[in-house]
Amino acid sequence: MSLRNIHLLGSPVLRQPSEHVAKVDDQVRAFVADLFETMDFSKGVGLAANQVGVAKRIAVVGIGEGERYALINPVIVEREGSVKEEEGCLSIPDIYGDVERSARVVVEALDERGTRRRIEGTALLARALQHEIDHLDGILFIDRVGPFKRRSLVRQWEKSRKGKTGFIKESIAEPEGADQA
Ligand code: ZN
Repeated sequence: MSLRNIHLLGSPVLRQPSEHVAKVDDQVRAFVADLFETMDFSKGVGLAANQVGVAKRIAVVGIGEGERYALINPVIVEREGSVKEEEGCLSIPDIYGDVERSARVVVEALDERGTRRRIEGTALLARALQHEIDHLDGILFIDRVGPFKRRSLVRQWEKSRKGKTGFIKESIAEPEGADQA
């Protein structure tokens, strides 16, 4: 397993619709393990393949012990209700906005063994599933906040970048004791 670097807003792969996965093989399984590792390292509740530069329909979601899912070729097959809550994204660090999402979704996907699974989610799980599946279609949460709020979030993001130009954030552990330095 290895940590992957995370692509940030501005990296073209985040806007690219991702490719269907033809076969769940060892390579896909190793990649899923990397996604889980990178998600945990980054303290996220989900991570999509294109966020680490791979435009394939693969994502992971993890909202706690026993609620961790690999999603390969995921499709939302049922939606119900609607709820607006604050959301963020590992590809747009430290920027948050209220996003309206379905309150309950049912997703069909293959897991890392290639078995078809049906995952029902409400609350945070429903939100994370919708957010990650959006990524696979090249959609970011800032696209769902309305045009005025979107402009304001993009301005905040640009300001927070302080002139930095790269669009890839390296996943490197902080050196020991860095918080005291
Ligand atoms: Zn995201």
